[in-house]
Order: sequence, then C-alpha cells, then structure tokens
Amino acid sequence: MSGWLAIAGLGPGDDALITPEVSAALAQASDVLGYIPYVARIAPRPGLALHPSDNREELDRARHALRRTQAGGKVVIVSSGDPGVFAMAAAVFEVLEEEPGWAELDIRVLPGITAMLAAAARAGAPLGHDFCAINLSDNLKPWPVIEKRLRMAAQADFAMGFYNPRSKSRPEGFGRVLSVLREECAPGRLVIFARAVSTPEERISVVTLSEATPEMADMRTIVLLGNSQTRRVGRFVYTPRSAP
Ligand code: SAH
Repeated sequence: MSGWLAIAGLGPGDDALITPEVSAALAQASDVLGYIPYVARIAPRPGLALHPSDNREELDRARHALRRTQAGGKVVIVSSGDPGVFAMAAAVFEVLEEEPGWAELDIRVLPGITAMLAAAARAGAPLGHDFCAINLSDNLKPWPVIEKRLRMAAQADFAMGFYNPRSKSRPEGFGRVLSVLREECAPGRLVIFARAVSTPEERISVVTLSEATPEMADMRTIVLLGNSQTRRVGRFVYTPRSAP
C-alpha cells in the first residue's frame, strides 16, 4: 500500500501563519523532508522521522520523498512561505516522470502564505493593484532573462516582489537590478525592504528608489517595488486599485 505526499508551505516564519491544513498533515506525517532551517521548525515526536538536507539538493530530496511515499510513508516536504513559489512543488513535478508509478501517487500541494504577501501586509497594501514576482537568483536562469523581465514589468507599470535579492555568492546582482530600475522608473518610486517578516528579527524599511542601496537587502529580505501610483499614507504604503 502506498502512502501520501503533501508538499506544504510553512509560511514566512511565525507558527500562527501556518494553515490548519498544513498542521494536520504534519500531525499525521511519518516523514518530514526539507531544507535544514525549515525542518528545524518541526517539533520532533515519536514515529516521525526528520530528514533535513542542503538547499542545493532539491531534486534528490524530491526523489527521496517519492520513494518513501511509494513505500507507504506519510510524507511531508516543507518549504517556507508557499511551496509553489520558487520552492519544492515544481521540483517534485520535475522528477515525477523519472519512475513509473510516481505520477499516480497521492500527491497534494498545500498552500502557504508567501513572503511577498506577508511583507505587503506589514507595509499596508502596496500590492493593491496588478503585480508580479521575480526571483533574482541567477542559479537557474541567466542574467539577461532577469533583466528583460525587470524592464518589461517596469514598462508595464507592475508593482513587483523580488525574491532571493542578494546572496554571498551573488554580491553584485542586486546592484545591477537597482541600476536597471533607475533607468526605467522615476527616482521617487517607493521600495520596501522587508527582512525576516513575522520573526523576532523582522525589520521593515521604506525608501525611494534613489535612496535604495544593495546593502539594504540580504537573503532573508524580500524587496517590494511599488508601481508609479504607490504612495504613503501616514505610516502605511498602498497602491490605489485603479490605474491612472
Ligand atoms: N517559497 C518561499 C520563497 C522561497 S525563496 C515563499 O513563498 O515565501 C527564498 C526567498 O524568500 C528569500 O531570499 C526572501 O527573499 C524570501 N523570504 C522568505 N521568507 C521571508 C521572510 N520571512 N521575510 C522576508 N523574506 C522572506
């Protein structure tokens, strides 16, 4: 008898932002797999095997989860935020055709609160009109693709959320992103740096595009760029629901 696989999002950090559906799957699980800091959020209990792994091992982790599911495990793969946003759900589907029978398994994707929406809620409503999400990591795509998407999204006046803005292995990438945005947008465009949202280290800062510097972001930061109409009201930032 084969088991089931839930690909679950743990939200941005605070356990209060884990959905009841995800909590129920975790309570029934025999195995939890995921990147080391995400698995560290799961309380150990008898009958539950925790399998933390490095963040460069996503496809191997997906295969491991499918093998355990086929062997009867009740398996949860955890991602932060939502598992479908630059995370494990797509990695599982990428390997699904490698072995006969995997695509027939009981697989469910359980949504979570993604960093972009958690950060937007802290700031007010900066994503109140049309928006898009761009992963700034160039591990899986070349820089020219990132640059083209940035320019076209800016020209179409989308608000944007930037995941993985900066890492030690890519210290110069976010500087290039800011240069492209300065070519396409007015200097007063609002930028929100939201770090470690919903954790004790949370820090939110709102600056203009001309004030933004690469050092304001790290790998625990999501960067939100307003559209041309995004404005401040008191201590909040919002984007009106209508286009000009
Ligand atoms: N699946 C995740 C995103 C994984 S990519 C989600 O839906 O949120 C990892 C990137 O997400 C980080 O580099 C950062 O840009 C963002 N991120 C994740 N958690 C965050 C948090 N609590 N606060 C701010 N940004 C966060």
